[in-house]
Amino acid sequence: MVRRYTHCGICLAACGMAVDIEDNRIVAFQGDAEHPLTQGFLCAKGLACVEMPTDPLRLRFPRERVGDTWHRITWADALEKIATRLDEIISRHGSHAVGLYYGAGNPTSSINYMMADGFLRALGSDRMYNVLTLEFTNRYYVMEKMYGRQFCVSQPDLEHTECLLMFGSNPMVSLDHPGIIASLKHLKKRGGKLIVVDPRRTETARMADLHVQVTPGTDLFLLQGIYSHIIENKMCDADFLQAHCDGGEFFLRWKPMTPAAAESICGVAAETIVRVAETFAGAKTACAVCKLGINTSHHGTLTYWLVEALNAITGNVDRPGGLLFNPGVLDLDMLSRMAVGRKKRRSRVGAYPYITGSYPASVLADEILTDSPDRIRALIVDAGDPSLVFPDSKRLDEALARLDILVSIDVCMNETAQRAHFALPAANFLEKDDLYVTFPDHFPYPFAQWSHKVMEPPDEARAEWEIFRDLSRRMRIPILNQRMLDFLFRMSEHVGRLIGKRAGYSFNPRNYYKMLLGLLGKVKFQELMENPHGLKAGDITWGSTLRRLSTRSRRIEVAPREFIERLDRACAVSTTPEFPYLLISGERSPYTKNTNLRGLKSLTTRQSGNFARINSEDAAALAVQDGEILEISTQRGTVRVRARVTDDIRQGVISIGHGWGRKIIEPESGSPDGIQGTNVNLLTDTGTLDTFTGMPVYNAIPCSVRKADRPAMSEL
Ligand code: SF4
Repeated sequence: MVRRYTHCGICLAACGMAVDIEDNRIVAFQGDAEHPLTQGFLCAKGLACVEMPTDPLRLRFPRERVGDTWHRITWADALEKIATRLDEIISRHGSHAVGLYYGAGNPTSSINYMMADGFLRALGSDRMYNVLTLEFTNRYYVMEKMYGRQFCVSQPDLEHTECLLMFGSNPMVSLDHPGIIASLKHLKKRGGKLIVVDPRRTETARMADLHVQVTPGTDLFLLQGIYSHIIENKMCDADFLQAHCDGGEFFLRWKPMTPAAAESICGVAAETIVRVAETFAGAKTACAVCKLGINTSHHGTLTYWLVEALNAITGNVDRPGGLLFNPGVLDLDMLSRMAVGRKKRRSRVGAYPYITGSYPASVLADEILTDSPDRIRALIVDAGDPSLVFPDSKRLDEALARLDILVSIDVCMNETAQRAHFALPAANFLEKDDLYVTFPDHFPYPFAQWSHKVMEPPDEARAEWEIFRDLSRRMRIPILNQRMLDFLFRMSEHVGRLIGKRAGYSFNPRNYYKMLLGLLGKVKFQELMENPHGLKAGDITWGSTLRRLSTRSRRIEVAPREFIERLDRACAVSTTPEFPYLLISGERSPYTKNTNLRGLKSLTTRQSGNFARINSEDAAALAVQDGEILEISTQRGTVRVRARVTDDIRQGVISIGHGWGRKIIEPESGSPDGIQGTNVNLLTDTGTLDTFTGMPVYNAIPCSVRKADRPAMSEL
């Protein structure tokens, strides 16, 4: 038996794991008590990973779909057929006819993303669509505008702040910062204030000093009320604005909506808005942050900007207790520039900017369905399930059906893979080596841990980097789109073969990271090997981000003109007599991760489908009891889903978790075995996208609700 230390790869917290392995079987599995950030903690999803080797939905062999029938196929045949098809499409329609979507199934695997991205660019295509564009690209857009770099991402200094103001975020369930539960409890214990703005009384809102139950989609106006009180009462930090900000005078002179005017839009009492403003601006140190609930609402980018700027006008940027910037162990801006180049690109559909090396995934369906001669005709989907997570699932499915070739690379047979021509079985995070470097804003200081391959993948499943390496070689393009690097590794592999030491000389994650960290890293590969529980690679140097801003003025561009110009035109979404409720989707669950982990019994026995939260007074008015079926309609479609009657949600609001509605297919037999839950994206649309980024709107969608006379979608 051998013990291996690694980290969980399900979410960005990357909690430490200790795994005992014997004969490629897990014999013991627990949180790593010596992990410096998570100290043995694993949530229900992390603990369920012990079941992954026996997951009944696991893909174990490459498969080709012919008509409605799946056939097992060898890797050699699968890769040859895919390479031939891609070559044909490129020679007839050009490189941009090939697209790639990179999903959230593998969030901590940096090498997988780099290989997928490099493969597409080596083909000559820039049609990359990543999951960040469904969830977070407004954040990177705002960072670039305010601080000059996309990857200069702020986070709250949880250890020192006196006041944490959170919009649309439920970290007690999303858990995507290591040690977040302990940090929030510690904040409360040392007398810090926690304010949560959310239409739902979430698990985090329950522990808050103040829960502001805002009407969905109106946070932009609530923020204006907060700003109004701060500006009016001269609570801005004028010295900070003068010393570090360009555009600070805008906020000193701004006359935004008053708390009383904001009340009529947000449904939050003016006194409460004043209380938030005074608590925040009156605290010695404070941070305001927002997450998905804001990002995926109407005006997501404008709202994100006002949240971020709230920190600047109160002097809470890059100082203890305010916003913190973790530079990480690799310079992500430099890596991104090396991969993507400096060329400014805009999507053909919608002319949205290229952010984090990607066009917005929301326009992918239109990029396939357009009549343009170089429309997308081939799509590779890596670790994602667009059929369930993209807005307007129906249109997306029409688009997928129009593709000449759809390839899915995934650990399990998901909804998109069922529509694919080829389903390629991938290794999960326990079955491959890797290094997580891509989201340093989830760690409080530069930190790295080698993610050890603790066991072999089952049957013929493979790590994604091997799939892209082999496809690249078949198509005679350089791996990672780096000719010199590809040449050096080919030479090295040749030497390795000659002297009988292939692993030490081949292209693989160990050798690649050895080289990359040696050239650009703050830690060396050997140090990672010597520190299996992870390694702190330096402290936060307060003030260093302010000294190294990359904006034109070298100061925080606190009031970018394009945002100011849009502010006056922003209006709140309104309900209508036909659609009198507001739908929010995307709430997190302790037992699911988007569309993943749906075959793990310990999780599915706790949650086997989704439901619609409805306020008890709304339910009474509709004569609906808890557990009965609701029919919910938007302009886009209608679904039926079980009601969960609660007092925790604001009246007039319906909340449905996303990522559900998948047909369960046992990959080996291909036999269907029911549907898990209801796909809420049958209700969402691509008609209204965020103006700046093209991000979808998943929240504050007008809808109608009635008691259904037919069963829920999953029970048909
Ligand atoms: S919080 Fe995230 S990383 Fe930690 S165990 Fe849970 S799923 Fe894994």
